[in-house]
Amino acid sequence: MTAPALPRRPATTLLWLRQDLRLSDHEALADALERGDAVVPVFIWSPEEDAAWPAGAASRWWLHRSLASLDASLRARGSRLVIRRGPALPALRDLVRETGASRVSWSRCYEPSRVERDAEIEKALHADGVEAESHGGALLVEPWEIRSGSGAPYKVFTPFWRTLLAGPPFPPPLPAPEAIPEPSAWPRSEPLAALELLPAIAWDAGLAAAWTPGEAGAAELLSTFLETGAHAAYSTGRDAPGRAGTSRLSPHLHWGEISPRQVWSAARRLARATDGDAWLRQVVWREFAQHCLFHFPHAPEKPLREEFARFPWRRDARGLRAWQKGMTGYPMVDAGMRELWTTGWMHNRVRMLVASFLVKHLLVQWQEGERWFWDTLVDADLPNNALSWQWVAGCGLDASPYFRIFNPVTQGQKFDPGGTYVRRWVPELAALPDKFLHAPWTAPPSVLAEAGVILGKTYPRPIVDHAAARARALAALATLR
Ligand code: FAD
Repeated sequence: MTAPALPRRPATTLLWLRQDLRLSDHEALADALERGDAVVPVFIWSPEEDAAWPAGAASRWWLHRSLASLDASLRARGSRLVIRRGPALPALRDLVRETGASRVSWSRCYEPSRVERDAEIEKALHADGVEAESHGGALLVEPWEIRSGSGAPYKVFTPFWRTLLAGPPFPPPLPAPEAIPEPSAWPRSEPLAALELLPAIAWDAGLAAAWTPGEAGAAELLSTFLETGAHAAYSTGRDAPGRAGTSRLSPHLHWGEISPRQVWSAARRLARATDGDAWLRQVVWREFAQHCLFHFPHAPEKPLREEFARFPWRRDARGLRAWQKGMTGYPMVDAGMRELWTTGWMHNRVRMLVASFLVKHLLVQWQEGERWFWDTLVDADLPNNALSWQWVAGCGLDASPYFRIFNPVTQGQKFDPGGTYVRRWVPELAALPDKFLHAPWTAPPSVLAEAGVILGKTYPRPIVDHAAARARALAALATLR
């Protein structure tokens, strides 16, 4: 007589989470559940593996909150988040040993250091006899799936966008599971606080007031944006930094708290995406940046147009400091830099202006600005940041030409005509009449006195003269010919 078969223990999958901090539309998670596996969700903190780009201070703040939110969502489904320190491979091997997992599964990242590291990990795990599997989900299309007619990677956005629109429809997003089977025993976890992601000195009150990191915060922002008319009015609303005309989803997209497929599908329910959907077009700029970084991995460090390696940049520590602190004497530039410092985010229109001011008015190398943004943005994202800086500096693939130099005064008058934005972020100028708000040095002494503005004391005089700076930038550009 044969003994009755014991019920088979389910296999265990280690779900290695990185920039996919959500439970809905999560391919790797859905795959593990479909197989009937127990799941051990794990986050490994290993900034030393991110080459020259470990998460900056604002990103770390976001990450702490996002991990706390993810853990709460997991616990509501009978699971939990296991936290370990890197390097990733030994941490994963330990976890495989401790849990008896037969598979390690993750969502792909496309940053050059991650691509390289993940390939090594996949190989090493296979050699250990452990299945290792990467999944999509961070992008609408994989960077290698979309090619120009000649078979080369795209270098220009519009044909990339058209090809993506003409392609097959994206599969609908996957729902979040109601329950996640747990392993027979949980491995130990580091407490989240032990990662010391939050600042030691509390400078983060402005970030906390502005954001709700996590999947629920992302879903709420998306529905507010789609349902209050901001999406419908995006083509004009997106240019007014004083109004809530954009989605503010960038940090949530960066950390994968919402997927581009969820965003796409929700927007498409309202209107068919055509060339006319200005918002989805911006979402696809994110895809394009990832595509470019994947195919041109040196983009965060080196100009994509090689002649710019010879550009005669200036060293200007004082100018750089004034720019970082929002003390350039140009109210629209200063408003942007102070919004960034306080909330960890800046409106796109103003990002373009402040970046242009740094690389053209001050002739400071774009990589200095890229670094500052990397540390201070809650949405700091290697492809978006690098490609956007190269775009403004004129050295990117599909870039704005360097000779197009924004005038910080007329940009303010055009995009913040009623001064809502500048008055909010540069309150020392709040009492100036609109006419002088964007160029306080042009106000008569009596107007300045009445508004309580003392130039050089309560607010700086411009650190460079616009006309002279413009001429200097064009002369610098001419040296490349
Ligand atoms: P929305 O206008 O609502 O757009 C929706 C989404 O589309 C965004 O969340 C973002 O994921 C994507 N998107 C929008 N504009 C762009 C763009 N120009 N390029 C790529 N993707 C875009 N974006 C980042 O996410 N991280 C960065 O580090 C970053 N650095 C930048 C640096 C400079 C100098 C400049 C000019 C732009 C940078 N951007 C960056 C792009 C853009 O400013 C932000 O994505 C946008 O302001 C985010 O606000 P939102 O979510 O309200 O955007």
